[in-house]
Amino acid sequence: MLLLIFLALFLPCAGMSAVFVVYICLLWFATNNHHQGEFRLPVKQAAEKGLSAPELEKLPRVTGEELVMGTECAVCLDEIEREQPARLVPGCNHGFHLQCADTWLSKRSVCPVCRAKLEPHPFNFNPPDDSPC
Ligand SMILES: [Zn+2]
Ligand SMILES: [Zn+2]
Repeated sequence: MLLLIFLALFLPCAGMSAVFVVYICLLWFATNNHHQGEFRLPVKQAAEKGLSAPELEKLPRVTGEELVMGTECAVCLDEIEREQPARLVPGCNHGFHLQCADTWLSKRSVCPVCRAKLEPHPFNFNPPDDSPC
């Protein structure tokens, strides 16, 4: 009888101790891994280059009524009014508010709708020199 009482008291204590030891071990491992993580070198992000202000100025500037591919701006999801200034993406002819397009294109040089790549100098077409005359 005395042995049963002893076991009833001792076993939960032993179980608690085991759990506590495992918990301390896990905590120690977690702290160790955290310290190792601080030595990792920061990963350089390959940032996509946007267009500069002079390059943005070369893009066609129109008004809302001249847009051919619909009058909804995909950047702010608002309607482009007939009298509002808009920017036209050369090639795919998608149009956006002037401010929306410039904000977007200064960060990345792709069309927000179709992801068409904008070349910095799309209109520099050099005719070949070997003309027949
Ligand atoms: Zn917009
Ligand atoms: Zn487009």
